[in-house]
Amino acid sequence: MVELVRAARAATMVPGAPVINDAAILVDQGVIKEVGTFTALSGAHSGHIHDLGDILLCPGLVNAHSHLELAHLKGKCPSGQGFVAWVEDLMGQPIFDLEPDQLDSAVRELKQTGTVMVGDIATRFAKEMAGMLEASGLFFAVFCEAIGETVPKKTFIPSGEFESGFMSVAGHALYTTHRDVLRAAKAETRDKGLPFSLHLAEHDEEVAIMMSAPSRFLDLLQARGRLLDFEPPGKSPVRQAADLGLLDETTLAVHCVKVGDDDIQTVRASGATVCLCPRSNEFIGVGRAPWEKWFASGTPLCLGTDSLASNTDLDLWNEALYLKENFNGELALMDLLAMVTRNPARILGAGEILGTLEPGKAAAFAQVPESLQALF
Ligand SMILES: [Zn+2]
Repeated sequence: MVELVRAARAATMVPGAPVINDAAILVDQGVIKEVGTFTALSGAHSGHIHDLGDILLCPGLVNAHSHLELAHLKGKCPSGQGFVAWVEDLMGQPIFDLEPDQLDSAVRELKQTGTVMVGDIATRFAKEMAGMLEASGLFFAVFCEAIGETVPKKTFIPSGEFESGFMSVAGHALYTTHRDVLRAAKAETRDKGLPFSLHLAEHDEEVAIMMSAPSRFLDLLQARGRLLDFEPPGKSPVRQAADLGLLDETTLAVHCVKVGDDDIQTVRASGATVCLCPRSNEFIGVGRAPWEKWFASGTPLCLGTDSLASNTDLDLWNEALYLKENFNGELALMDLLAMVTRNPARILGAGEILGTLEPGKAAAFAQVPESLQALF
């Protein structure tokens, strides 16, 4: 069915393109055919008109970092006590007891709040999560999380073909995934033309472990038999990731809270994209990424909610509101919108179908909340 969607304003998120007033988008069977003003497109259109009214329309949102496997831990994890307390508590929780009802409500929340794609980390159930997401109607990149010391014989990624997404591999972190495993995981994504993701520079304990400083967290890991032969590289997490060859234009580095100016330049020069998770960082109590410096560097940025074990909801607009409300200095609405549309769509391999409103792309829309517009 051919339909003309009308909105008072539309941010196409095509770089450099202005917001269209009295906008219209011609949609045929779920695909955008034309984008322009209502005046220009309505003359030749005799079919149905779907008038969305006085709203600012934008491309459907892309949540660059979630862990839907942990949906059942919503409201059950300690907040504001730091990373070690949070992880210790998490270890005592039934992490892998998936609850279908909680997964359903998480997916429903994503869809109701304008999200059309997730970059989701799966520690144990990658194939199941991909299948669940395929059935949900969301687009997805499910990253099988590589953790520990063992490089698999053939592949990190289970077999499986999906229509609205794919599986790739992510490293958990520099201190929980052996460097040989990280290198092998990155190599597999490079060979297959897939995106790679890694939690990076999230908290002070990570920096301490890398720099060979005393770390309560390392003690905790070693008491569990992990990292017994770990050799601290004596470098910052970002420097170590770069030296291991993990950072390039297909890498999504998540968190990047504990970074110095050199680290920011290293990431920028590598071409990697950074996913900020401001409310997760606040929830756990690890501090705040130098958002302003990240913006100033020109590094492509995304936003992610992270999991419901470290956030109160999966509403990406709440992430954007939080960032804007706590940002020091100028932040343009279009730069903020790029973090939840164009940038994550591109790094998650969906730049051809999502991220901007252009002919040929999926007719997947979101509505910029008035509460966010009011901050600009
Ligand atoms: Zn995460």
